[in-house]
Amino acid sequence: MNSRDSEHLIAELSIKENYSLTTEITDADLIIINTCSVREKPVAKLFSELGVFAKYKKDSAKIGVCGCTASHLGKEIIRKAPVVDFVLGARNVSKITQVLHQKHAVEVDTDNDDSSFDFSEYRTNPFRAMVNISMGCDKSCTFCIVPATRGEEISIPSELIVSEIQKAVATGAKEIMLLGQNVNNYGRRFSSESEVKDFTGLLKKISLMDGLERIRFTSPHPLHMDDEFIEEFASNPKICKQIHVPLQSGSTKVLREMKRGYTKEWFINRCELIRRLAPSATISTDIIVGFPNESEEDFKETMSVLDSVRFEQLFSFKYSSRPHTAAAEYDNQIDNDISGERLTRLQSRHTEILDEVMDTQLGSVHEVYFDELKSEGRVSGRSDDGKLVFVKGSEELLGHIVQVKIEKVSRSLLEGIVI
Ligand code: SAH
Repeated sequence: MNSRDSEHLIAELSIKENYSLTTEITDADLIIINTCSVREKPVAKLFSELGVFAKYKKDSAKIGVCGCTASHLGKEIIRKAPVVDFVLGARNVSKITQVLHQKHAVEVDTDNDDSSFDFSEYRTNPFRAMVNISMGCDKSCTFCIVPATRGEEISIPSELIVSEIQKAVATGAKEIMLLGQNVNNYGRRFSSESEVKDFTGLLKKISLMDGLERIRFTSPHPLHMDDEFIEEFASNPKICKQIHVPLQSGSTKVLREMKRGYTKEWFINRCELIRRLAPSATISTDIIVGFPNESEEDFKETMSVLDSVRFEQLFSFKYSSRPHTAAAEYDNQIDNDISGERLTRLQSRHTEILDEVMDTQLGSVHEVYFDELKSEGRVSGRSDDGKLVFVKGSEELLGHIVQVKIEKVSRSLLEGIVI
Protein backbone atom coordinates (compact mmCIF):
# COMPACT_ATOMS: atom_id res chain seq x y z
CA MET A 1 0.00 0.00 0.00
CA ASN A 2 2.91 2.32 0.70
CA SER A 3 4.31 1.66 -2.78
CA ARG A 4 1.01 2.70 -4.30
CA ASP A 5 0.83 5.77 -2.03
CA SER A 6 4.33 6.69 -3.27
CA GLU A 7 3.13 6.39 -6.87
CA HIS A 8 0.25 8.74 -6.06
CA LEU A 9 2.64 11.25 -4.47
CA ILE A 10 4.91 11.12 -7.52
CA ALA A 11 1.92 11.51 -9.86
CA GLU A 12 0.53 14.56 -8.09
CA LEU A 13 3.93 16.24 -7.78
CA SER A 14 5.03 15.60 -11.35
CA ILE A 15 1.76 16.54 -13.04
CA LYS A 16 0.55 19.41 -10.86
CA GLU A 17 3.88 20.83 -9.64
CA ASN A 18 6.29 19.90 -12.41
CA TYR A 19 8.66 17.83 -10.28
CA SER A 20 10.64 14.94 -11.76
CA LEU A 21 12.39 12.04 -10.03
CA THR A 22 16.10 12.10 -9.29
CA THR A 23 18.40 9.47 -7.84
CA GLU A 24 20.85 12.08 -6.50
CA ILE A 25 20.02 13.48 -3.10
CA THR A 26 22.21 16.52 -3.76
CA ASP A 27 20.05 17.42 -6.80
CA ALA A 28 16.70 17.07 -5.05
CA ASP A 29 14.46 20.11 -4.42
CA LEU A 30 12.10 17.96 -2.40
CA ILE A 31 12.79 14.82 -0.36
CA ILE A 32 9.87 12.69 0.76
CA ILE A 33 10.17 9.81 3.19
CA ASN A 34 7.14 7.55 3.00
CA THR A 35 7.07 5.68 6.29
CA CYS A 36 5.66 2.51 7.83
CA SER A 37 4.89 2.13 11.54
CA VAL A 38 3.79 -1.49 11.87
CA ARG A 39 6.93 -2.29 13.86
CA GLU A 40 9.09 0.00 15.95
CA LYS A 41 12.30 -0.25 13.93
CA PRO A 42 11.23 1.90 10.94
CA VAL A 43 10.32 4.73 13.31
CA ALA A 44 13.87 4.87 14.71
CA LYS A 45 15.21 4.62 11.17
CA LEU A 46 13.17 7.67 10.13
CA PHE A 47 15.03 9.95 12.53
CA SER A 48 18.45 8.63 11.61
CA GLU A 49 17.68 9.04 7.89
CA LEU A 50 16.41 12.57 8.47
CA GLY A 51 19.84 13.36 9.94
CA VAL A 52 21.58 11.99 6.84
CA PHE A 53 19.28 13.84 4.42
CA ALA A 54 19.67 17.11 6.35
CA LYS A 55 23.44 16.81 5.94
CA TYR A 56 23.50 16.19 2.18
CA LYS A 57 20.48 18.09 0.88
CA LYS A 58 20.60 21.44 -0.95
CA ASP A 59 19.96 24.35 1.43
CA SER A 60 16.73 25.20 -0.38
CA ALA A 61 15.44 21.60 -0.52
CA LYS A 62 12.29 20.75 1.41
CA ILE A 63 11.77 17.53 3.39
CA GLY A 64 8.37 15.89 3.86
CA VAL A 65 7.50 12.93 6.06
CA CYS A 66 4.51 10.91 4.83
CA GLY A 67 2.81 7.61 5.67
CA CYS A 68 1.87 5.85 8.88
CA THR A 69 4.61 7.21 11.14
CA ALA A 70 3.56 10.67 10.00
CA SER A 71 -0.02 9.77 11.00
CA HIS A 72 0.82 8.59 14.47
CA LEU A 73 3.59 11.03 15.45
CA GLY A 74 2.16 14.13 13.68
CA LYS A 75 3.73 17.41 14.79
CA GLU A 76 6.05 15.56 17.17
CA ILE A 77 8.17 14.86 14.06
CA ILE A 78 8.76 18.55 13.42
CA ARG A 79 9.46 19.14 17.11
CA LYS A 80 12.12 16.41 17.12
CA ALA A 81 13.46 17.19 13.65
CA PRO A 82 12.84 20.88 12.75
CA VAL A 83 14.46 20.25 9.36
CA VAL A 84 11.15 18.65 8.32
CA ASP A 85 8.94 21.05 6.30
CA PHE A 86 5.67 19.11 6.35
CA VAL A 87 4.03 15.98 7.73
CA LEU A 88 1.39 14.15 5.68
CA GLY A 89 -0.49 11.14 7.07
CA ALA A 90 -1.17 7.90 5.23
CA ARG A 91 -4.81 8.90 4.65
CA ASN A 92 -3.92 12.38 3.31
CA VAL A 93 -1.86 11.62 0.22
CA SER A 94 -4.22 13.66 -1.99
CA LYS A 95 -3.24 16.81 -0.04
CA ILE A 96 0.43 16.66 -1.06
CA THR A 97 0.25 19.68 -3.37
CA GLN A 98 -1.34 21.76 -0.58
CA VAL A 99 1.08 20.95 2.25
CA LEU A 100 4.01 21.50 -0.05
CA HIS A 101 3.34 25.25 0.08
CA GLN A 102 2.66 25.60 3.82
CA LYS A 103 5.68 25.73 6.09
CA HIS A 104 5.35 23.16 8.87
CA ALA A 105 1.95 21.90 7.71
CA VAL A 106 0.72 18.78 9.52
CA GLU A 107 -2.15 16.89 7.84
CA VAL A 108 -2.95 13.65 9.61
CA ASP A 109 -6.75 13.41 9.81
CA THR A 110 -8.47 10.17 8.84
CA ASP A 111 -11.65 11.61 7.26
CA ASN A 112 -12.59 10.52 3.80
CA ASP A 113 -14.52 11.37 0.67
CA ASP A 114 -14.30 10.21 -2.95
CA SER A 115 -12.04 13.13 -3.91
CA SER A 116 -9.23 11.47 -1.97
CA PHE A 117 -9.26 8.54 -4.46
CA ASP A 118 -8.71 10.78 -7.46
CA PHE A 119 -5.04 10.97 -8.44
CA SER A 120 -2.98 11.82 -11.46
CA GLU A 121 -1.41 8.88 -13.29
CA TYR A 122 2.01 7.44 -12.50
CA ARG A 123 3.09 3.80 -12.42
CA THR A 124 6.56 2.46 -11.65
CA ASN A 125 5.89 -0.58 -13.80
CA PRO A 126 3.50 -0.21 -16.76
CA PHE A 127 2.93 -3.97 -17.06
CA ARG A 128 1.42 -4.59 -13.66
CA ALA A 129 -0.71 -2.09 -11.81
CA MET A 130 -1.60 -1.72 -8.15
CA VAL A 131 -5.20 -0.63 -7.61
CA ASN A 132 -6.61 0.37 -4.21
CA ILE A 133 -10.03 -1.07 -3.43
CA SER A 134 -10.34 0.10 0.16
CA MET A 135 -8.66 2.39 2.67
CA GLY A 136 -8.16 1.90 6.40
CA CYS A 137 -9.12 -1.05 8.57
CA ASP A 138 -12.05 -1.78 10.89
CA LYS A 139 -10.45 -4.71 12.71
CA SER A 140 -9.13 -4.35 16.20
CA CYS A 141 -6.24 -6.83 16.18
CA THR A 142 -4.60 -6.06 19.51
CA PHE A 143 -1.05 -5.94 18.10
CA CYS A 144 -1.76 -3.68 15.14
CA ILE A 145 -1.35 0.08 14.82
CA VAL A 146 -2.82 0.30 11.28
CA PRO A 147 -6.43 1.19 12.26
CA ALA A 148 -5.02 4.13 14.24
CA THR A 149 -2.88 5.40 11.37
CA ARG A 150 -5.02 4.64 8.32
CA GLY A 151 -8.41 5.21 9.93
CA GLU A 152 -11.70 3.39 9.54
CA GLU A 153 -12.31 1.09 6.62
CA ILE A 154 -13.93 2.62 3.54
CA SER A 155 -14.40 0.72 0.30
CA ILE A 156 -13.88 2.51 -2.97
CA PRO A 157 -17.01 2.40 -5.21
CA SER A 158 -16.69 -0.35 -7.83
CA GLU A 159 -17.18 2.10 -10.75
CA LEU A 160 -14.05 4.01 -9.66
CA ILE A 161 -12.07 0.77 -9.34
CA VAL A 162 -13.15 -0.33 -12.82
CA SER A 163 -12.15 3.01 -14.33
CA GLU A 164 -8.73 2.83 -12.60
CA ILE A 165 -8.21 -0.63 -14.09
CA GLN A 166 -9.33 0.55 -17.54
CA LYS A 167 -6.70 3.30 -17.44
CA ALA A 168 -4.00 0.82 -16.38
CA VAL A 169 -4.97 -1.70 -19.08
CA ALA A 170 -5.00 1.04 -21.73
CA THR A 171 -1.38 1.85 -20.90
CA GLY A 172 -0.16 -1.74 -21.05
CA ALA A 173 -1.02 -3.52 -17.79
CA LYS A 174 -2.24 -7.11 -18.20
CA GLU A 175 -2.00 -7.78 -14.49
CA ILE A 176 -3.43 -5.91 -11.51
CA MET A 177 -2.92 -6.20 -7.78
CA LEU A 178 -6.01 -5.19 -5.80
CA LEU A 179 -4.96 -3.54 -2.55
CA GLY A 180 -6.55 -3.13 0.85
CA GLN A 181 -5.78 -3.92 4.49
CA ASN A 182 -8.60 -6.38 4.44
CA VAL A 183 -9.67 -6.93 0.84
CA ASN A 184 -12.27 -9.62 1.37
CA ASN A 185 -14.18 -7.39 3.75
CA TYR A 186 -14.87 -5.17 0.70
CA GLY A 187 -18.25 -3.45 0.73
CA ARG A 188 -18.71 -2.87 4.42
CA ARG A 189 -18.92 0.91 4.07
CA PHE A 190 -18.73 3.26 1.07
CA SER A 191 -18.43 7.03 0.87
CA SER A 192 -20.88 7.04 -2.08
CA GLU A 193 -22.98 4.59 -4.12
CA SER A 194 -21.36 1.41 -5.42
CA GLU A 195 -22.80 -1.13 -7.83
CA VAL A 196 -20.89 -4.09 -6.37
CA LYS A 197 -20.97 -4.58 -2.63
CA ASP A 198 -18.85 -7.65 -1.85
CA PHE A 199 -15.37 -8.89 -2.71
CA THR A 200 -16.39 -12.03 -4.58
CA GLY A 201 -18.76 -9.90 -6.69
CA LEU A 202 -15.96 -7.43 -7.35
CA LEU A 203 -13.63 -10.23 -8.51
CA LYS A 204 -16.35 -11.51 -10.85
CA LYS A 205 -16.99 -8.07 -12.30
CA ILE A 206 -13.33 -7.20 -12.81
CA SER A 207 -12.54 -10.51 -14.43
CA LEU A 208 -14.96 -9.66 -17.27
CA MET A 209 -12.80 -6.71 -18.32
CA ASP A 210 -11.20 -6.97 -21.77
CA GLY A 211 -7.42 -6.84 -21.91
CA LEU A 212 -7.02 -7.74 -18.26
CA GLU A 213 -5.52 -11.20 -17.95
CA ARG A 214 -4.35 -11.60 -14.37
CA ILE A 215 -5.81 -10.55 -11.03
CA ARG A 216 -3.99 -10.68 -7.70
CA PHE A 217 -5.02 -9.22 -4.37
CA THR A 218 -3.60 -8.55 -0.92
CA SER A 219 -4.35 -8.94 1.96
CA PRO A 220 -7.39 -11.08 2.55
CA HIS A 221 -8.38 -11.94 6.13
CA PRO A 222 -8.81 -15.64 7.05
CA LEU A 223 -12.04 -14.86 8.93
CA HIS A 224 -13.77 -13.63 5.76
CA MET A 225 -12.69 -16.55 3.56
CA ASP A 226 -16.10 -18.08 3.07
CA ASP A 227 -16.68 -21.04 0.70
CA GLU A 228 -18.05 -18.81 -2.05
CA PHE A 229 -14.88 -16.69 -2.04
CA ILE A 230 -12.57 -19.72 -2.12
CA GLU A 231 -14.64 -21.30 -4.91
CA GLU A 232 -14.35 -18.11 -6.98
CA PHE A 233 -10.61 -17.94 -6.29
CA ALA A 234 -10.19 -21.55 -7.42
CA SER A 235 -12.43 -21.52 -10.48
CA ASN A 236 -11.87 -18.10 -12.05
CA PRO A 237 -9.04 -18.50 -14.59
CA LYS A 238 -8.09 -14.81 -14.41
CA ILE A 239 -7.39 -14.98 -10.68
CA CYS A 240 -3.76 -15.94 -10.13
CA LYS A 241 -3.35 -19.00 -7.98
CA GLN A 242 -1.46 -17.27 -5.21
CA ILE A 243 -3.09 -16.34 -1.94
CA HIS A 244 -1.91 -14.71 1.28
CA VAL A 245 -3.57 -16.19 4.37
CA PRO A 246 -2.13 -14.33 7.37
CA LEU A 247 -2.03 -16.75 10.31
CA GLN A 248 -0.31 -14.58 13.00
CA SER A 249 -0.40 -17.46 15.51
CA GLY A 250 -1.35 -21.14 15.47
CA SER A 251 -2.59 -21.08 19.06
CA THR A 252 -6.32 -20.48 19.43
CA LYS A 253 -5.63 -18.95 22.85
CA VAL A 254 -3.19 -16.41 21.37
CA LEU A 255 -5.50 -15.76 18.40
CA ARG A 256 -8.24 -14.90 20.89
CA GLU A 257 -5.91 -12.50 22.71
CA MET A 258 -4.96 -10.98 19.36
CA LYS A 259 -8.73 -10.59 18.57
CA ARG A 260 -8.27 -12.26 15.19
CA GLY A 261 -11.77 -13.77 15.20
CA TYR A 262 -10.84 -17.32 14.06
CA THR A 263 -9.43 -20.49 15.60
CA LYS A 264 -6.51 -22.71 14.59
CA GLU A 265 -9.04 -25.25 13.22
CA TRP A 266 -10.84 -22.67 11.06
CA PHE A 267 -7.54 -21.49 9.64
CA ILE A 268 -6.39 -25.02 8.74
CA ASN A 269 -9.82 -25.84 7.33
CA ARG A 270 -9.67 -22.78 5.00
CA CYS A 271 -6.19 -23.73 3.79
CA GLU A 272 -7.30 -27.33 3.20
CA LEU A 273 -10.21 -26.10 1.10
CA ILE A 274 -7.86 -23.89 -0.94
CA ARG A 275 -5.47 -26.85 -1.46
CA ARG A 276 -8.37 -29.12 -2.47
CA LEU A 277 -10.12 -26.73 -4.88
CA ALA A 278 -6.97 -25.07 -6.24
CA PRO A 279 -4.18 -27.65 -6.02
CA SER A 280 -1.74 -25.48 -7.99
CA ALA A 281 -2.14 -22.51 -5.62
CA THR A 282 0.65 -21.24 -3.42
CA ILE A 283 -0.22 -20.03 0.06
CA SER A 284 1.82 -17.38 1.86
CA THR A 285 1.40 -16.22 5.43
CA ASP A 286 2.43 -13.75 8.16
CA ILE A 287 3.42 -15.02 11.61
CA ILE A 288 4.20 -13.04 14.76
CA VAL A 289 6.25 -14.79 17.45
CA GLY A 290 6.57 -13.67 21.05
CA PHE A 291 3.13 -12.08 21.38
CA PRO A 292 2.55 -11.26 25.10
CA ASN A 293 1.93 -14.38 27.13
CA GLU A 294 2.87 -16.76 24.27
CA SER A 295 4.01 -20.00 25.92
CA GLU A 296 6.27 -22.68 24.47
CA GLU A 297 3.09 -24.76 23.96
CA ASP A 298 1.45 -21.89 22.04
CA PHE A 299 4.52 -21.56 19.86
CA LYS A 300 4.46 -25.31 19.13
CA GLU A 301 0.87 -24.88 17.90
CA THR A 302 2.20 -22.32 15.40
CA MET A 303 4.91 -24.78 14.31
CA SER A 304 2.25 -27.45 13.83
CA VAL A 305 0.23 -25.19 11.48
CA LEU A 306 3.43 -24.55 9.51
CA ASP A 307 3.85 -28.31 9.10
CA SER A 308 0.26 -28.99 8.19
CA VAL A 309 -0.22 -26.16 5.65
CA ARG A 310 3.38 -26.08 4.34
CA PHE A 311 3.23 -22.41 3.30
CA GLU A 312 5.21 -21.67 0.15
CA GLN A 313 6.13 -18.25 1.54
CA LEU A 314 6.48 -16.97 5.09
CA PHE A 315 6.80 -13.43 6.42
CA SER A 316 7.69 -13.74 10.10
CA PHE A 317 8.27 -11.13 12.76
CA LYS A 318 9.12 -10.75 16.41
CA TYR A 319 6.21 -9.07 18.16
CA SER A 320 6.86 -5.34 18.46
CA SER A 321 4.87 -3.38 21.04
CA ARG A 322 3.10 -0.43 19.39
CA PRO A 323 1.36 2.69 20.71
CA HIS A 324 -2.46 2.87 20.33
CA THR A 325 -2.72 -0.94 20.58
CA ALA A 326 -4.34 -3.03 23.31
CA ALA A 327 -1.53 -5.59 23.49
CA ALA A 328 0.99 -2.90 24.49
CA GLU A 329 -0.77 -2.89 27.88
CA TYR A 330 -0.82 -6.68 28.31
CA ASP A 331 1.14 -8.33 31.12
CA ASN A 332 3.79 -10.91 30.32
CA GLN A 333 5.60 -9.25 27.46
CA ILE A 334 7.98 -11.91 26.14
CA ASP A 335 11.72 -11.62 26.60
CA ASN A 336 13.52 -10.61 23.41
CA ASP A 337 15.88 -13.62 23.56
CA ILE A 338 12.96 -16.05 23.73
CA SER A 339 11.22 -14.35 20.77
CA GLY A 340 14.50 -14.40 18.84
CA GLU A 341 15.00 -18.10 19.48
CA ARG A 342 11.42 -18.91 18.41
CA LEU A 343 11.81 -16.84 15.26
CA THR A 344 14.97 -18.78 14.36
CA ARG A 345 13.24 -22.14 14.90
CA LEU A 346 10.25 -21.06 12.83
CA GLN A 347 12.34 -19.73 9.98
CA SER A 348 14.68 -22.73 9.83
CA ARG A 349 11.76 -25.16 9.70
CA HIS A 350 10.22 -23.06 6.97
CA THR A 351 13.47 -23.07 4.99
CA GLU A 352 13.42 -26.89 5.01
CA ILE A 353 9.83 -26.90 3.73
CA LEU A 354 10.69 -24.32 1.08
CA ASP A 355 13.67 -26.35 -0.18
CA GLU A 356 11.42 -29.39 -0.57
CA VAL A 357 8.79 -27.31 -2.38
CA MET A 358 11.28 -25.66 -4.73
CA ASP A 359 13.00 -28.97 -5.56
CA THR A 360 9.75 -30.21 -7.10
CA GLN A 361 9.88 -27.28 -9.55
CA LEU A 362 12.74 -28.65 -11.63
CA GLY A 363 11.43 -29.51 -15.13
CA SER A 364 8.04 -27.92 -14.48
CA VAL A 365 6.40 -25.54 -16.96
CA HIS A 366 4.98 -22.16 -15.93
CA GLU A 367 3.13 -19.38 -17.71
CA VAL A 368 5.27 -16.36 -16.91
CA TYR A 369 4.30 -12.72 -17.35
CA PHE A 370 7.54 -10.85 -18.03
CA ASP A 371 7.71 -7.34 -16.64
CA GLU A 372 11.31 -6.40 -15.82
CA LEU A 373 14.66 -6.17 -17.59
CA LYS A 374 17.53 -7.55 -15.53
CA SER A 375 21.31 -7.44 -15.86
CA GLU A 376 23.31 -9.85 -18.05
CA GLY A 377 20.71 -10.11 -20.82
CA ARG A 378 17.97 -11.53 -18.63
CA VAL A 379 14.33 -10.70 -18.01
CA SER A 380 12.17 -11.59 -15.04
CA GLY A 381 8.51 -12.15 -14.41
CA ARG A 382 6.02 -13.96 -12.21
CA SER A 383 4.41 -17.32 -12.74
CA ASP A 384 0.67 -17.57 -12.19
CA ASP A 385 1.36 -18.92 -8.69
CA GLY A 386 3.60 -15.96 -7.88
CA LYS A 387 7.08 -17.41 -8.30
CA LEU A 388 9.87 -15.18 -9.56
CA VAL A 389 11.24 -16.57 -12.84
CA PHE A 390 14.31 -15.47 -14.82
CA VAL A 391 15.10 -16.30 -18.46
CA LYS A 392 17.69 -15.10 -20.95
CA GLY A 393 16.01 -12.54 -23.20
CA SER A 394 15.41 -8.91 -24.08
CA GLU A 395 12.67 -6.27 -24.00
CA GLU A 396 10.68 -8.15 -26.66
CA LEU A 397 9.51 -10.45 -23.87
CA LEU A 398 8.23 -7.63 -21.68
CA GLY A 399 4.46 -7.45 -21.44
CA HIS A 400 3.99 -11.02 -22.72
CA ILE A 401 2.77 -14.16 -21.00
CA VAL A 402 4.99 -16.99 -22.18
CA GLN A 403 5.52 -20.66 -21.31
CA VAL A 404 8.80 -21.35 -19.53
CA LYS A 405 10.44 -24.66 -18.65
CA ILE A 406 12.33 -24.55 -15.35
CA GLU A 407 15.95 -25.69 -15.50
CA LYS A 408 17.41 -24.34 -12.27
CA VAL A 409 15.85 -23.78 -8.85
CA SER A 410 16.87 -21.88 -5.75
CA ARG A 411 15.01 -20.79 -2.63
CA SER A 412 13.89 -17.43 -3.95
CA LEU A 413 13.71 -17.83 -7.72
CA LEU A 414 13.48 -20.15 -10.71
CA GLU A 415 15.51 -20.01 -13.91
CA GLY A 416 14.33 -21.48 -17.19
CA ILE A 417 14.00 -21.30 -20.96
CA VAL A 418 11.16 -20.04 -23.09
CA ILE A 419 9.44 -22.94 -24.90
N1 SAH B 1 -4.06 -5.95 7.42
C1 SAH B 1 -2.91 -6.74 7.09
C2 SAH B 1 -1.79 -6.45 8.04
C3 SAH B 1 -0.79 -5.46 7.58
S1 SAH B 1 0.62 -5.39 8.58
C4 SAH B 1 -3.27 -8.19 7.25
O1 SAH B 1 -4.12 -8.55 8.07
O2 SAH B 1 -2.63 -9.00 6.56
C5 SAH B 1 1.52 -6.76 7.94
C6 SAH B 1 1.96 -7.75 8.97
O3 SAH B 1 2.79 -7.14 9.94
C7 SAH B 1 0.84 -8.37 9.80
O4 SAH B 1 0.15 -9.39 9.13
C8 SAH B 1 1.58 -8.88 11.02
O5 SAH B 1 2.08 -10.20 10.83
C9 SAH B 1 2.76 -7.91 11.12
N2 SAH B 1 2.56 -7.04 12.28
C10 SAH B 1 1.56 -6.14 12.50
N3 SAH B 1 1.70 -5.56 13.71
C11 SAH B 1 2.82 -6.10 14.27
C12 SAH B 1 3.47 -5.92 15.52
N4 SAH B 1 3.00 -5.09 16.43
N5 SAH B 1 4.60 -6.64 15.76
C13 SAH B 1 5.08 -7.50 14.83
N6 SAH B 1 4.50 -7.72 13.65
C14 SAH B 1 3.37 -7.03 13.35
